[in-house]
Amino acid sequence: MTGTHADGAAHFLNRPESAAAHDAALWFIRGKRDTASDIPEWEALRSAGATLKAHAMGSLAELLETFEARATASGVSVHWASDAAEHNEIVLGILRSKGVALVSKSKSMLTEECGLNEHLAAAGISVIDTDLGERIVQLAGEGPSHIVAPAIHWRREEVAQLFHRHFGTPANETSPEALANAARVHLRDTLLHADAAITGANALVAETGGVVVCTNEGNADLGMHSAPLHIVCVGIEKIVATLDDLAVILRLLARSATGQPSTVYTTHVAAPRNGAEMHVVLVDNGRSARLADAEFRSALHCIRCGACLNTCPIYRRSGGYSYGHVIPGPIGAILAPSTNLEQHKSLPFASTLCGSCGDVCPVRIDIPAQLLAWRGRIARARKLPRGYRPGMRWLGIVLANPRRFARTGRRLRWLLGSLPGFLKRGGWNRWTRPGRSLPDAPPESFREWARRTGRMR
Ligand code: SF4
Repeated sequence: MTGTHADGAAHFLNRPESAAAHDAALWFIRGKRDTASDIPEWEALRSAGATLKAHAMGSLAELLETFEARATASGVSVHWASDAAEHNEIVLGILRSKGVALVSKSKSMLTEECGLNEHLAAAGISVIDTDLGERIVQLAGEGPSHIVAPAIHWRREEVAQLFHRHFGTPANETSPEALANAARVHLRDTLLHADAAITGANALVAETGGVVVCTNEGNADLGMHSAPLHIVCVGIEKIVATLDDLAVILRLLARSATGQPSTVYTTHVAAPRNGAEMHVVLVDNGRSARLADAEFRSALHCIRCGACLNTCPIYRRSGGYSYGHVIPGPIGAILAPSTNLEQHKSLPFASTLCGSCGDVCPVRIDIPAQLLAWRGRIARARKLPRGYRPGMRWLGIVLANPRRFARTGRRLRWLLGSLPGFLKRGGWNRWTRPGRSLPDAPPESFREWARRTGRMR
């Protein structure tokens, strides 16, 4: 996507029924997360998660070397990739050396980040995504729009049409069971006959040299246990020191991602199967640079649960593609600018700063503070959109004085109430474009209401 986040959001909102379904589906997951995290030790678990991730990032080099030594001793080949291009070449080299023509791939945001599918396809290797949501977007020629639920923007009726075209299911077959079964039949053949399986990893454990993969569909397990070659593609920030640390992450992850106490399949792989080969590709691709930036370092603690996306009022109502980055939502808005500030400078402004993302984050990343910090950097780099500077300067003067703030509020409320409707809600007004509403101005300010009702003295 080119253009700003607002342009992408306007495009998404052109299909109001899909936008409403998207909002509702994510709010449903948010509700499940709230129920699942209603356990007495939740806040202590979050603190433990934040601490152990900070420790892991503080000893990143050491933990990765320990992981490499243990994994190598168990017969795993470990590779290091400094960027996406090197990662893609390493994977391609391994596949070519084995004459691989067909790969089954389970869900992996890292391979999306690196554009692996496209790279392998250009080299004549077929890659079939075996996660149901990933397969839906792959068949549609799209990328994932959510880091946990890649096809969350697709309605059941649309999936029925897609499967009708590709699998020959009845066009009016919309039952989730029937659609899942059609996908299962289609994918099983790939899973059983692929020459190689590529998976991501939810964690690397330095203590054991093992890789941990969490799924709810079992597709990663079937793929890696059927193919003679298993390649794990993983970002270096996924390392944890010990199995005890892993236990904390796993409890936080499933509850935050899907509202489950644990994922259906949590697989630990520490060595290749007899007669099979296993490779782990450790990818940096900008992570070391982020580690060196104290202001944004904690973004590396992210365990990709998606909770901040599900709760974000902006993400829910603008869709994943509006972010124009492989990781959308609040976490994407703080990761993307460090990859290309010019291209992603609108993302830190795609937030109300309501703070909900920080409140739900299982590893306590202060996302709102980082969004604000990016806004400051963007302003200092003189990359604010035209018109922002004078507006911000005026706002700074108004906000600097409580009396001036109250007086201006009164005038603006009066003005909003007095202007004719066509002036307030005309097509020229960005605030009232389709998908947005401009509420009537209240008769009094919050402070006036609080004083009048005796809530504030
Ligand atoms: S930033 Fe926090 S809430 Fe968002 S995906 Fe990462 S771990 Fe989950």
